[in-house]
Amino acid sequence: MNSKIWLSSPHMGGNEEKYVKEAFDTNWIAPLGPNVSGFEKDLEQYLEEDVHVACLSSGTAAIHLALVQLGVGYNDEVLCQTFTFCGSANPIKYVGAIPVFIDSEQETWNMCPNHLENAIKDRIAKGKTPKAIIVVHLYGMSAKIDAILKIANQYNIPVIEDAAEALGSTYKGQKCGTFGDFSILSFNGNKIITTSGGGAMVCNSKEDKDKTIFYATQARDQAPHYEHTSIGYNYRMSNISAGIGRGQMEVLDKHINLRRSVNTFYTSLFKDVKGITVMQEPSNDYHSNFWLSCILIDDTASVTAEEFRLAMDKENIETRPLWKPMHLQPIFKDNPFYGDGFSEALFKTGLCLPSGSNLVKDDFDRITQAVKSII
Ligand SMILES: *Cc1c(COP(=O)(O)O)cnc(C)c1O
Repeated sequence: MNSKIWLSSPHMGGNEEKYVKEAFDTNWIAPLGPNVSGFEKDLEQYLEEDVHVACLSSGTAAIHLALVQLGVGYNDEVLCQTFTFCGSANPIKYVGAIPVFIDSEQETWNMCPNHLENAIKDRIAKGKTPKAIIVVHLYGMSAKIDAILKIANQYNIPVIEDAAEALGSTYKGQKCGTFGDFSILSFNGNKIITTSGGGAMVCNSKEDKDKTIFYATQARDQAPHYEHTSIGYNYRMSNISAGIGRGQMEVLDKHINLRRSVNTFYTSLFKDVKGITVMQEPSNDYHSNFWLSCILIDDTASVTAEEFRLAMDKENIETRPLWKPMHLQPIFKDNPFYGDGFSEALFKTGLCLPSGSNLVKDDFDRITQAVKSII
């Protein structure tokens, strides 16, 4: 049997072990240390825009702390993109608030500004102004962030930008992860760079960064003993993980270029295939890291998405349905939803394809063979 071709697997650059070894040599085996501050500095320089970064144990933890710092609490409403991973939405429940889900638009597959504005008006008419908006840049493609921010400003609602999948992507030349009141990144094992597990909060001020670290380290007040006036969390990143992150930062741009060339490969592979389209950047305003390359398989194709997935699986090639919208998830089925069902259509007809920066010629040959025999 051929070895498995994964959707997206960790791809080390080479210097990760050097930074981890440094951590051992200097005995910084803790959720703080020179790699943590070094990784934060690397990210701040990479993202530009004068941002301040706090490294955390996961992207989900970052969203939780963003909600905490925005003062979102029991019975508040939070507007959240429905087409996403559960890590975007679950933290709304951690703080006792109510997720209100917003459908996607066709160009970027992310939060639709029209549905967002309708939802805000309707929630206000029903008596509650939403406390925050969680917008996501899925698969590396920036949302229509200008339009989203304009509406958010108009109604004075803070924005949490979930850039977990979009490190290195830009919109009109500005990096994703620098647009929100708080923005979050993820370094989970399958993301564009990994620390084995980890995340970060991107803040607009040093004050917000310090506050994030305060909450992430059990909210310890200034005192020689342990004194607490707030509820804290144990969400800081370890110095070992941060060492891996520092090594990964050295190869981030190289890996983005490789992922973009994977997208080019699929674009030509499916060019003349009836009923199958590869997700593309809508215009020059968008520059995607193409974390995952995705296809839509419509009614005119010779196979359904599920048939395609099963046939690829027989060849030991991993593909996966697109995110199942949150408003269709059993845990959120009773939550309000604003939209026209576009995300449901994406879920029914879409697939993510192997997209790693570590794919080799033999992998591309096997994928080409498999696709040709399926269609
Ligand atoms: C991965 C991911 C998260 C959560 O990040 P973790 O580090 O796995 O907690 C949140 N949102 C999106 C869109 C993601 O892809």
